[in-house]
Formats: sequence, structure tokens, C-alpha cells
Amino acid sequence: MSIGNANVLDELVAIVGRGNVLTRREEQQAYVVDWRDRYHGRALAVVRPQSTEEVARVVRACAAAGVPIVPQGGNTGMCGGATPDDSAREVVLTLTRMNRLRAIDVDNATITVEAGMPLATVQASAAAHGLHFPLSLGSEGSCTIGGNLSTNAGGTAVLRFGNARDLVLGLEVVLADGRVLDALRGLRKDNTGYDLKHLFVGSEGTLGIVTAAVLKLFPAPHVQATAFAGVADVSAAVRLLRDLKQALSDRLVGFELISRFALDLCRRHHPSLPDPVPGHPWYALIQANDSAAQSTLAADLERALLSAAERGLVQDAAVAQSAEQAARMWALRDNISESQRREGPNVKHDIALPVSAIPAFIAEGATRIEQAFPGARLVVFGHLGDGNLHYNVAAPAGTDARAFLANTPAINRIVHDLVSAAGGSISAEHGIGQLKRAELRHYKGAVEIEVMERIKAALDPQGLLNPGKVL
Ligand SMILES: Cc1cc2nc3c(=O)[nH]c(=O)nc-3n(C[C@H](O)[C@H](O)[C@H](O)COP(=O)(O)OP(=O)(O)OC[C@H]3O[C@@H](n4cnc5c(N)ncnc54)[C@H](O)[C@@H]3O)c2cc1C
Repeated sequence: MSIGNANVLDELVAIVGRGNVLTRREEQQAYVVDWRDRYHGRALAVVRPQSTEEVARVVRACAAAGVPIVPQGGNTGMCGGATPDDSAREVVLTLTRMNRLRAIDVDNATITVEAGMPLATVQASAAAHGLHFPLSLGSEGSCTIGGNLSTNAGGTAVLRFGNARDLVLGLEVVLADGRVLDALRGLRKDNTGYDLKHLFVGSEGTLGIVTAAVLKLFPAPHVQATAFAGVADVSAAVRLLRDLKQALSDRLVGFELISRFALDLCRRHHPSLPDPVPGHPWYALIQANDSAAQSTLAADLERALLSAAERGLVQDAAVAQSAEQAARMWALRDNISESQRREGPNVKHDIALPVSAIPAFIAEGATRIEQAFPGARLVVFGHLGDGNLHYNVAAPAGTDARAFLANTPAINRIVHDLVSAAGGSISAEHGIGQLKRAELRHYKGAVEIEVMERIKAALDPQGLLNPGKVL
């Protein structure tokens, strides 16, 4: 360790206390490896501040010493954005001790929380006041609201409520020089110049460190209805989506697509989960909620599914008869990523397309992947309601999954070229991190990249905030 490093470590200890500066390899382990186990780093220290003031002082100390900072929330990100490099020069700044509820304003329908609050706790805090925070992800028990905002997380209710970006009204951010940008306003209208908070949303810790947020709340759902429908193909799922939007309007909250292959994979690792309507190539998992106490929601959903079945769009469907049945249907969807992780590595894509372009993309993608990599297995699922698919390519059965990863560049080119040709995006909700930096440069226009670089240079001239991520 150099003298400079020793000095900055002493300063960090003085700010957050010795117990919150982790320097030993064993105590850093949980913070230097990503959820997918693809990136392994080594940090100068993992620092755990518990207030905005402490974050600001840590950032000032690091800036003075030229030490890069990797902000981290729940470390559930899919693109290695929260993992340090292996130089042992970077400080991981984890926000998980900053997890307090600062305020809830029922009449304004807003909640103000610190960045390290787990998403599930934000939801529960809203529910305790008869309100609803609709962001919902499979990782919600572990991911933090700061991480959700920094990745502009999507999840299963974007169809109705939008992404994390649509749910934030105000932010508090520690800038690269340690000053605090206080934009913690709970306003739905505020046209006083540039809307700075949106620079930080989705910036993956490269422009500033989010320390607190004001979030929008909604009326709590009074009645909920969940259904699992078997469909013959993806075109039928898209038409069913259109019909359900018409029938249920904004009571339709989520519409997930799951291939039979993805469902089987999930059930192989979670054999106690149900197979609600066996024997179909594709499934739609449908969630509808109504905040009105006198609601005909369940009957309306059943009627719409029946009508879709009469017109051949739905082959068979099961409507959950209890909250427990609904939760088990959702568990089939929520456990796909984790089941895939247990199967071994695969080439992941998180893509967005116009919903109308998805059937042709799936058909063409399957043909091209099979031509190039015979026997490769496609694990396709995702948020069809908002045009976001997780399109993962796994090694042919019985072959070495890790060795198959060598094909990643060629597979990416097939998938991302098709996405780009259809006007889509190579990252719908997971961000860029370190995983997709090269792909970003390949597909984003030169002018867009240049503007991004200028924003980065303006806000982080020393390049110390999450270097090597996004750009
Ligand atoms: C089982 C599972 C299901 C998932 N489902 C979804 C899904 O449906 N939709 C979806 O969008 N994502 C999903 N994810 C991905 C992940 O949960 C999200 O990206 C989440 O928003 C990350 O939050 P986090 O707190 O874990 O952030 P981290 O992983 O710790 O960090 C993610 C990025 O944000 C930065 N960051 C974190 N906190 C801050 C902060 N306070 N200030 C500045 N930068 C910060 C990090 O530097 C990093 O670049 C899923 C993950 C898992 C494991």
C-alpha cells in the first residue's frame, strides 16, 4: 500500500469509523463480485457511510487523493456496474447503511427515502400508509432505491406505471467534488430550467452519488387479479395484450411473456411451483389491479380471456383463485433468472423493441442463432407489455456452458443487429455497466456518444466516479 493510500484510508476511517472501512479480502467479498458471478474485483476499501454528510466527506477525501469511487446499492445489477476493477485502487462506496425513511406525505402522495433503502421496504412503507409504490422487480428484497434510480430499473409494472425515471420527483445527489445537489422536491410540475435529476437517473453512478429521493405514490390496489394463459405463438400474445388493454384500460398492470423452455427451466430448479396450464409453447402472465373497492375486475378479466379464447388467441388459461395462487404464478416468472444462474453461464440480452416488432424478431432470431450455433438453447421471457425481452442464449445441451461464452461477440452481433434494424435498444432496463460498453459504442450514434462524454466531463472532470462503466 502506498503512503497516499494509507493517508486516504486514515481519512476514511476518521469519517465513517474503523468498522465501516473494510480492507481485508474476506470482508470485501460480498461487495467485489457481481450477482451473476461474472466480474471479480478487488477494492482499496469498501466504505459504508450512513449519512449524506458522510458520503460528501468520503467523496471529497477520495477526490483530493485521486481515488476512484464505485457506488453500490444492493449489488443485484446485471451488467457489472457496481463491481470495482481488480487494481485494488478503487473504493466501493456502499449506500446500504443509508436506509432511512425521511418523510411520507399522504396528501401529496410522495415518500422521501434514503438511497440505500431496499425496494421492498419502500413498497412496505407506502403500503403502511394505504398507498402504493409500483416499481416491482424479482430482486426487490435486495436491490436499493438508489440502485433502481441509477439503473432506471423497469420491472413488471412498467406497462402501467413506467420505469424508475417516471416514479421520481426529486433527488439529492453528492457530486464528484463532494458538494450536495439538493433537488429533493416533491413537485409534479417544475419547469425551472433543466431537469437535472434526469441526468442522474440511469447514469449508473458515473455522474453523481444518489443519497435520497422523493418518489411518487399511487392509490393502493384494492382488488388484484392474476392469470396465466397458454398461447400458440408470440403474435397471439401481442394480440391478447392489445385486447386486454382495451378491456381493462389502466387496470392492466403487467403482461409478461414466458417461453415453455424458460418455464421448464424454472420448474426444474423449483419443482414445487405449479404448471398452471401445461402443454403450450408460450405463456402470458397477466396482472390487473383496481384501487376501487367496488370492482368488477376479476369478472372483466375472465370475460376478456374467454372472448380471446373464442377467437383462438388463448388456448387455455388459469385465473388465480387466491393471493397464494397468484404469488405462485409470479414465482414462476420471478425465479427464471435465478434458475438460469444455477444452470451455468449464458449469453444474456436485455432488449427493447416496439411491441409490434417482437414476433418477427423472435422468429428471425431463432433461425439465425440456429444457423450459426446449431443446438443453442434460447431462454426467452420478459416484459412483453412494454416491449422488453430477456433473450438469453445457452450452450447446446451436454456441452460446456463456460466455453460457449467465447461465442458472445458473434451472438451479440446477430441479436443486436436484428434489434437495431427493428429500431430497438440493446439495453432496456439493466443498463450498460462494464458488460455492454463496446456494444453501446457500436450502436449509439457518434453525436449521442459525444454529448454523453461532454456531460461526463462537465460533472466528473477527474473521471473518478465509476470509471470504466457506461462510457
Ligand atoms: C433476480 C433478479 C431480477 C431482476 N429483475 C429486474 C427487472 O425486472 N428489472 C430491472 O430493471 N432490473 C432487474 N434486475 C436487475 C437489478 O436488480 C436492477 O438493476 C436494480 O435496479 C439494481 O439495484 P441495486 O441496488 O442492486 O444496484 P447495484 O447493483 O448495487 O448497482 C447498479 C448500478 O447503479 C449504481 N448505483 C447503485 N446505487 C447507487 C447510488 N446510490 N448512486 C449512484 N449510483 C448507484 C452502481 O454503481 C451500478 O452502476 C434483477 C436482478 C435480479 C438479481
